[in-house]
Amino acid sequence: MVVLGLSVGSVAACGGGVSRSPDQAPAVDRAVDRPYLLERVGEAAVVQLYADGFDALPLDQKILVYHLYRAALAGRDIFYDQRYMHNLDMREVLEQILTHADGVDPETRAEVEHYTKLFWINTGPYNNLTARKFVLTSSPEAFAAAAHAAAASGAAFPIRDGETLDAMLARMAPLFFDASVDPSVTSKTPGAGQDILAASANNLYVDVTMDDFEGFTEQYALNSRLVKRDGRLVEEVYKIDGKYGQPIAEIVGHLEAAVPYATAPMAEALRALIRFYQTGEAADREAYDIAWVRDDASPVDTINGFIEVYMDARGAKGAWEALVYYVNREKTEAIRTLAENAQWFEDRMPWEPQYRKEGVRGITANAIDVVIETGESGPVTPIGINLPNDQAVREEHGSKSVSLSNVVVTYDRSMPAEFRTEFAWTPEEVARAERWSSFAGELTTNMHEVIGHASGRLADHLDGNPQAALNEQYSALEESRADLVALYFLPDPKLAELGLVPAESHDEIVLAEYEGYTRNAIVQLRRVREGTQLEEDHMRNRQMIVRWLMDNTNAIEERERDGKTFYVMRDASAFREGVGRLLAEVQRIKSEGDYDAAKQLFESHGIHFESALRDQVVERVDALDLPSYSGFVQPKLDAVIGADGAITDVTISYPNDLMTQMLEYSGNLP
Ligand SMILES: [Zn+2]
Repeated sequence: MVVLGLSVGSVAACGGGVSRSPDQAPAVDRAVDRPYLLERVGEAAVVQLYADGFDALPLDQKILVYHLYRAALAGRDIFYDQRYMHNLDMREVLEQILTHADGVDPETRAEVEHYTKLFWINTGPYNNLTARKFVLTSSPEAFAAAAHAAAASGAAFPIRDGETLDAMLARMAPLFFDASVDPSVTSKTPGAGQDILAASANNLYVDVTMDDFEGFTEQYALNSRLVKRDGRLVEEVYKIDGKYGQPIAEIVGHLEAAVPYATAPMAEALRALIRFYQTGEAADREAYDIAWVRDDASPVDTINGFIEVYMDARGAKGAWEALVYYVNREKTEAIRTLAENAQWFEDRMPWEPQYRKEGVRGITANAIDVVIETGESGPVTPIGINLPNDQAVREEHGSKSVSLSNVVVTYDRSMPAEFRTEFAWTPEEVARAERWSSFAGELTTNMHEVIGHASGRLADHLDGNPQAALNEQYSALEESRADLVALYFLPDPKLAELGLVPAESHDEIVLAEYEGYTRNAIVQLRRVREGTQLEEDHMRNRQMIVRWLMDNTNAIEERERDGKTFYVMRDASAFREGVGRLLAEVQRIKSEGDYDAAKQLFESHGIHFESALRDQVVERVDALDLPSYSGFVQPKLDAVIGADGAITDVTISYPNDLMTQMLEYSGNLP
């Protein structure tokens, strides 16, 4: 499972808060002057990912990361092909034109470049948010002229046997120009009478509809392409001597090279993964999942394989992806510190003593820094991952959760400054947000997850199942509870004592978080462009808290300036006092399963909003031209080879350019 953080100020699924981010204080200063936002391409932002801790890794870990990085690149085209049968040919045509563009008309070239950048970011012609196809804006004639000009400069196109360049362009024109041809990569609700597989343009099924499954036993549900051949279904298994055999052989070669540098548990997991790539058998996949989960302490880790099933309308076929990362020790330490002190916080929760838990254990996750993400995880990346997906393995062996620290930092740092200034009442509020919102956001997110969700005791009559009593109110209430725990303890001197905040800046950090949390209650309205109700649970939770504080304390004031509405946090101690009161009531509602009270709380504060306010917010946000999602340029690793052919060092650098990286990945960089 993944947690998505699609763009600036995004809502993470659980990830708690406004999923802004981290940064320990010293890193803030280093981070200010280098580029995060590289360029805008339509509604997408292109951003640079940094992996600052890489240089400090011991050499054997650097070499390990390097081999895993090569394995991640080796499988990249698998996902291109899975996502759309024509993707690789389309990419080659585009890249050939762009790398032989001297004689191409400048206007056409600009249009091709714009389209190609979106194509790279989305791994093909389908928007990753909407699953809908986007098309090239130049005319087919201008595109053909560009291809001819490129051919004259030496471009080599993916022409089929006996085909002319014009015939190839005519054959491929509908792919580039016709939005009604293969309109959606994944269509889970295609409309009455339509089949979800036939309506989905991905390459996980060929000529297969849901009806074909009758009487068919699927052996390789996760790792095969299903093809109808001569009237019967054939599973093309993804394995070293099967479908995608060549890239898989390359992946395996790099994994084998990595094994000697891995810790014993990680080496076991890598060997299990190699075995699965060799056989494709479900039993070997399960063995790999188990070995991967058991490796819970290695400083370096990788996810590599057919993992998530979101792209398949049927939810069965795994899309290939790879991530390579190392544990961010400092940030993971902060999570562990909170977890180890969970009982201290529990004993001081502002709710009735009978709802306090004995022997509470915090929830732990690793904070990681990603070195590379390919396939379904890049250039558009999740911010949190919890694996394996196999429910049986999870129940028996547990799962691993990671939060992608440097990705979250990048989202925050690439946020246009106007996004904060537009909704902040004073320049001081803006300055506090710039200095501390990352830091405070990560801290409160950790508190939300580690001591928030883990806390509290239920009344016996609920039998451990508050969902059954609270029904559709449960999730929003539980998310509110976790947020409130974080907001309540944020000003506590205990945090400075534990080394989680610098004591001298503690007050500023609290202000930055309370102000940001308050602003978010109106800024988030931009996401709901229709109607006057919030549906998403995190959005309900955040609105409920802020509106309840507005109605029950003097902490927050609604003000107007130049026809614009502001929510202004004016009294941090009143804010905290109110949070404590609300938290006590929210805990009581959960512990007792008081459905009517939950419903009343959200109906009166969390769900409804005024359309005029939303319209105003939408207008202000649209004027800022914020990106809808971000494509990440990855760090680049290079091996330094010694006289004896062995790797003596691995260096990391940052291309700061999407086109350079994409052309390099596909071997087309001139
Ligand atoms: Zn949560």
